[in-house]
Amino acid sequence: MLAARYRGPNQIVPENVDIPAIGEGEALIRVEACGFCGSDISIVAGTHPRAKAPLTLGHEISGRIAQIGEGSHDLAVGDLVTMYPLISCGKCHACQNGHAHVCRELRLFGFDVDGGMAEYVKLPIDALIKLPATMSPQVGALIEPLAVAVHGVARADLTGVDVAVVLGAGPIGLLTALVAQSKGIPHVVVSDVVESRLSLARELGLDAEAAGSELHERVMQLTAGNGADLLFECAGHPTSAHEMTALVRSRGVIVNLSVFKKPALVDLQAINFKELELVGSRVYERQDFHEAIELAMTLPAAKIVSHEFSLNDVSAAFEQFHSSAACKVIINLSRDK
Ligand SMILES: [Zn+2]
Ligand SMILES: [Zn+2]
Repeated sequence: MLAARYRGPNQIVPENVDIPAIGEGEALIRVEACGFCGSDISIVAGTHPRAKAPLTLGHEISGRIAQIGEGSHDLAVGDLVTMYPLISCGKCHACQNGHAHVCRELRLFGFDVDGGMAEYVKLPIDALIKLPATMSPQVGALIEPLAVAVHGVARADLTGVDVAVVLGAGPIGLLTALVAQSKGIPHVVVSDVVESRLSLARELGLDAEAAGSELHERVMQLTAGNGADLLFECAGHPTSAHEMTALVRSRGVIVNLSVFKKPALVDLQAINFKELELVGSRVYERQDFHEAIELAMTLPAAKIVSHEFSLNDVSAAFEQFHSSAACKVIINLSRDK
């Protein structure tokens, strides 16, 4: 079968590998679509701390069950599913206290173990999450990033929140803004430095402002100069880390969904003077997937897909994903037929 293989720094190629043989408690999935994630960039760059070549990428999939072992599950061959990609140790403090998604030794399919950017992927039955039969493969592949957004929004108390800011209009920023809006927050303002991303945000019905002084003015105008009630950091850039505290009101909340590659400068004096709350948000929990599936039925999430490629063209797809003109880039396996 064909698989998108990371072969070493800056090498991602379509390669023929054996179809994996499933063992007890496992299933074989025929993949229909698989999205590129920001974290795939660090894998291919060779800078991800754990991912080692050779590796099949991909943790944002939709596909149909081709083979499945017996057991106490309600899944059958032909069911449309996505994967819950987290592998937790089960023993650490987080795992023992119901927070396995922030396991001390968290591992993921597509990072530590072969992922699903391939014709087939072998997964534990426990890692499968059933999707509605009518869901398109593209939307199915967006459930994982949508679950990231659902989790990020769930990390904040939305009571009394009138104005929320989302820094960064990439896939996670846009999905976070859509989820925040769906929760009834009256004003959600998204910002980015890339104009094409701002226009995509506007197409999604979001209030979008260029990062910097335009965003600052808009937020202050909406809040009588106080600052936003809530801010989601989804840009992962040192500039946004430095500026975020100035955009939030006293006693406001900042949720950081970004994976910063190195420590960033944060204005701790503002955190102190304004008694801000700074909250982390990492991946998701299972219930976030279920909520993401519900939301995907109504939100215009599919609009964030800017490009689709065949698996054979995975190198070109990755190059496209790397450019600022792209939003979500998806490998659509039906294009290989
Ligand atoms: Zn992802
Ligand atoms: Zn653990």
